[in-house]
Amino acid sequence: MTCPQCNQRIPTRALWTPAGLSGVVCTHCQAALAPKPISAILVFAVSFGLGDLALMLLRHKGAEFWQACAGFFVVFAVVFALAAPLLLRMRLKDHGDPHLSGHRA
Ligand SMILES: [Zn+2]
Repeated sequence: MTCPQCNQRIPTRALWTPAGLSGVVCTHCQAALAPKPISAILVFAVSFGLGDLALMLLRHKGAEFWQACAGFFVVFAVVFALAAPLLLRMRLKDHGDPHLSGHRA
């Protein structure tokens, strides 16, 4: 995962902001970044798929439903944390994007 502005590697901890993925800022050039929607969906889908797999396995092994749910959330969180730095692609947040802000104000 690299910054589209300065091409430096973005550390994983930059992703964990109070505002979530919508508040990511490059630690090198301070550019405001947002994940590309398709990569965010991919990370979410992978996490959800593996979490669901864990839930099914736990249920298959005779775990209680709440235990299986807990397993789902643990796997989901771990996979999300691991997959996000690998799969996420960042783009610059459209601050001065003429398509969105314009000169209407
Ligand atoms: Zn940067």
